[in-house]
Amino acid sequence: MEMKPEQLASLQAQFATLKDRSPFYARKFADIDLGDVRSQADFEQLPFSEKDDLRHVYPLGLAAVPARDIVRIHSSSGTTGTPVIIPYTQQDVDDWADMFARCYRMAGITPDDRIQITPGYGLWTAGIGFQLGAERLGAMTIPMGPGNTEKQLRMMEDLQSTVLCATSSYALLLAEEMKKRGIRDHMALTKGVIGSERWGHKMRQRIADELGVELYDIYGLTEIYGPGIGISCDEHAGIHMWDDYVYFEVIDPKTGAIVPDGEQGELVITTLRKQGAPLIRYRTHDLTRIIPGQCACGSKYPRIDTLLGRTDDMVKVKGVNMFPAQIEEVIRFTDGASSEYQVMIDHMLGKDILTIFFETSATGEDKEHIEQELATIFKGKIGVTPVAKGVAIGELPRSEKKTQRIFDNRY
Ligand code: ZN
Repeated sequence: MEMKPEQLASLQAQFATLKDRSPFYARKFADIDLGDVRSQADFEQLPFSEKDDLRHVYPLGLAAVPARDIVRIHSSSGTTGTPVIIPYTQQDVDDWADMFARCYRMAGITPDDRIQITPGYGLWTAGIGFQLGAERLGAMTIPMGPGNTEKQLRMMEDLQSTVLCATSSYALLLAEEMKKRGIRDHMALTKGVIGSERWGHKMRQRIADELGVELYDIYGLTEIYGPGIGISCDEHAGIHMWDDYVYFEVIDPKTGAIVPDGEQGELVITTLRKQGAPLIRYRTHDLTRIIPGQCACGSKYPRIDTLLGRTDDMVKVKGVNMFPAQIEEVIRFTDGASSEYQVMIDHMLGKDILTIFFETSATGEDKEHIEQELATIFKGKIGVTPVAKGVAIGELPRSEKKTQRIFDNRY
């Protein structure tokens, strides 16, 4: 994708003082004169940044402003080692709210809507981003945070919430609960804004059907504002990205080379006006592709495809690379298999064994037939024969945050 002149201008303005403002970049670009970046090709010579670089300067080493200009910090999950702290200035917080309000508008949400927010508040960027965007839009917000399904449903009914913001797994949990209680008719929900967890087509269809709402995918990551840097539109043909705030590239995760538009690879993002913690060529490890051409909705904002997975979710079994999205496709093509699945990879007697558990309402011979069918489709699409095991609907875990589906027990 071609860099726009105004994007290059923003980068150059930022680069003019970046090394003076930020010890992190003074070190990172010690051998590079950022004044030499005069074109997209020059920019593409700059080294990538990784989450690990950000970890190494914990806690506030990423700041490119004096501490008194920092009005807030967020932190990305520290499940593996040191967390990453991202400082925000007031302008960063305002920009994020503006971008998020634009997301809601793209989804056709207006100040007349009542937005129920179920992602978590706190160090995590999710809940507060949904909140600020909704307030910036001028809608009524219902800041529930996660959990307490009983209270969620009560508020949703009593306040007649029209928009549900949630992770896909929590939206599914709420949809199932509503169905079980037969209370969908009491609700006023029309739209769902679903966090950027990569989710399969079947799961999306189930949530849409059972909630009876139109769903929008919102994208973002804590290191770069949080959710709200892009969202899908009424055409549901990819995610529009706010390219006046972020510049994005798609690279081959192995070689780092930029791939042609339309080809899959790893999303790399550069912030164009972030003050607290600017990021240059930050590797997101999200797998997607740039969708060439303009969207039928008429928006000029460029698009990436629905996320395919994470480069770190890629697992190699019997010499074959596989992504969660491919496994979801197998599930989608198997009649009688519901959306939920879990994959276990074990090493026994010198061999890798891949077991896929999936939910189905079938029993007895019907279930065996579906298991065989799924294994055949899996072999055909991915090239590995799994052990397929059907379990009853509701047996696999659902979580309020991201649901882990692939368990590699080999190491
Ligand atoms: Zn569109």
